Parts: sequence; structure tokens; C-alpha cells
Amino acid sequence: MASLIQEPERFRRNLLRWYAAHGRDLPWRRTRLPYRIWVSEIMLQQTRVAAVLDYYRRFIRAFPTVKALAAAEESSVLAQWSGLGYYRRARMMHRAAQLIMAEHKGRFPRTSAGLRELPGIGRYTAAAIASIAYSEAAAVVDGNVQRVLSRLLAAESPDIWQTAQQLLDPARPADFNQAMMELGATVCTPKAPKCGECPVVRFCLTRGEHPVAAPAKRNRASLDYLLASNATSLLMVQRDASASLMAGMWELPAWQADTTIQVMHIQAMRFKHSITNTDYQVNVYRAPLERRYRKFGKLVDLRQLAQLPLTGVARKAITRAGLLSARD
Ligand code: SF4
Repeated sequence: MASLIQEPERFRRNLLRWYAAHGRDLPWRRTRLPYRIWVSEIMLQQTRVAAVLDYYRRFIRAFPTVKALAAAEESSVLAQWSGLGYYRRARMMHRAAQLIMAEHKGRFPRTSAGLRELPGIGRYTAAAIASIAYSEAAAVVDGNVQRVLSRLLAAESPDIWQTAQQLLDPARPADFNQAMMELGATVCTPKAPKCGECPVVRFCLTRGEHPVAAPAKRNRASLDYLLASNATSLLMVQRDASASLMAGMWELPAWQADTTIQVMHIQAMRFKHSITNTDYQVNVYRAPLERRYRKFGKLVDLRQLAQLPLTGVARKAITRAGLLSARD
């Protein structure tokens, strides 16, 4: 078996050759602009590539530059992020964009150390942006890289960042980092690694035998909402600006089976919605918009829905009810 530590050049060569042939063609891989790489890296945190693609394209169209993002209203930024979840990410990006404009003359810091000074940019994101946009020899470690290294070395490294840094190809840090993450995402997958297709199998001490921590147990809960609309308006509520989750975003009024209201409701739809480690069963009770319901929220013009920062579950319900186009 070849040794990863003794032959790092061979490891890099095999990995990079495989990445050139098999790496997925993703929109953020066609650019070296730090702004676009930043947007993609923040969106990809805790979110799958397939779910990010449309959001990324729409976000870049709405805010093509850091200047445009900094100048936008926070509600517009959240509206573009609506449905992607973890809204703190969008708020931090907005704040960081304003700082870049105010304190860096609109230019991104050019080093990972400088990038880490910005809100919402930690060690991983700083290394990803600096290596891809500026070819800084800074290794990245995300969940994929961590799993690949643990399996290659048959051990949890005491300092995984240092191990990744030793392996990094200093001449091609952008490709190397992306190749390691791609290997973890598409070949060295959590449940069933495809060792037969792995370009670095000859360096691997475990070939898939290394145990990977079981995913955290998921909780279950249910949510009930009222969807009351007429031809022009929909009843909605805005979450408190100080709420710990999804502050300031818009959602449907919560529905409680309250017999005193005597709503002749019909159960319009049920669907599943997952937030962090909880799977929700969502029940939406649809009713014609009557005057007596108005105490439960505010009337929102249907034409303005697409511009509102909607919670993910509200967006899903309203889209399914046909009040919002899936493209909006
Ligand atoms: Fe992962 Fe298998 Fe490749 Fe080892 S040989 S790195 S376990 S895919």
C-alpha cells in the first residue's frame, strides 16, 4: 500500500486527475471572484448542493456585487434567502458586505486571516475563499474532508487542520481543496463509500471500514397554520424583531383548534418540513378571508408576496396553495 505521508505528491496527482475528469460543473466553480465564492460557501453551509443551485443563481442576479448587497434592504436579502433556512447566515453576509464597503473600499480582504475579521466568516470559509479566489495555500476542513481524512488515516487526527495543511498541494490549493471536498461529497460518502471508484484507494488504510459517527437522532413535531386569503390578499404575521429564530420574517398565522372562533375550515394540505434536527408535520387549514380573522394578522397584497422575507415553511405552503410561483 502506498503511504500518504511518504508520497504526498502521488496522492495529490491522483486526486487532481480524478477531479479534473469527474468534478461536477457547478456555477461557483466557474469563477474566481471572491464575492461569488463567498455567497456559494455561505449557502452551502448545512445545505445540499442541489438545494443551493437555484438560490445561488437568483441571489447573484439580485445582488451581482458586494456593493449591491451592501446597499440592499435587509428584508430584500432575506426575501432572496427565504426557504434556504439558517437566516442568520444571510444577515451576517449583509453586515459583512456593508463592512467591506465602509472599511475596505469595497474590496475583499485578500488573505484568510483578513477574511476572518468579517462577520460570519470562520476558519473554513476564510480558507475556502482565500484558496479559491487568491490561491492562498490554506487547507479547508469541512465535514467531507474530515471524513475522508479519518478514513484514509484510520484515525481521528488530533489536529485535522494540520493534517489537511500537510497534504495540501501548495501549487494548486484551489483545485486541491475542491477535490477533497468533492471526493467526500460524491465518493467517500458517509454511509456507503464507493471505494471501487476512489482515486486514492491505494493510500487508504480503512477502505470504508472506519466507523463514522451515527447521525444525530431526529425529533418529530407538528405545526398548524391558517391560510386565509381572498382574490387580492393573504393574512400573515411578522415574527418579532427580537425573536431568536427567523426574526422579522413573515409567516402564516398559527392555527389553534379554537371552537370559539368556529371557523369552517377545511384541511387544505399536509406536508413535511425539516428544520435542523426536527422533522415537522405541517397542517395548513385554508379558509376564505373573513373580517373576523383579521385580528390574527395583517393583510398582505398577493402581488407583494415575492418581495417579502418569508419563512421556509410559509413559502412552501403559499406556493403549494398556488398564491406564489415556484420561481418567485
Ligand atoms: Fe473513502 Fe473508500 Fe476512498 Fe478510503 S478508499 S478514501 S474509504 S472512498
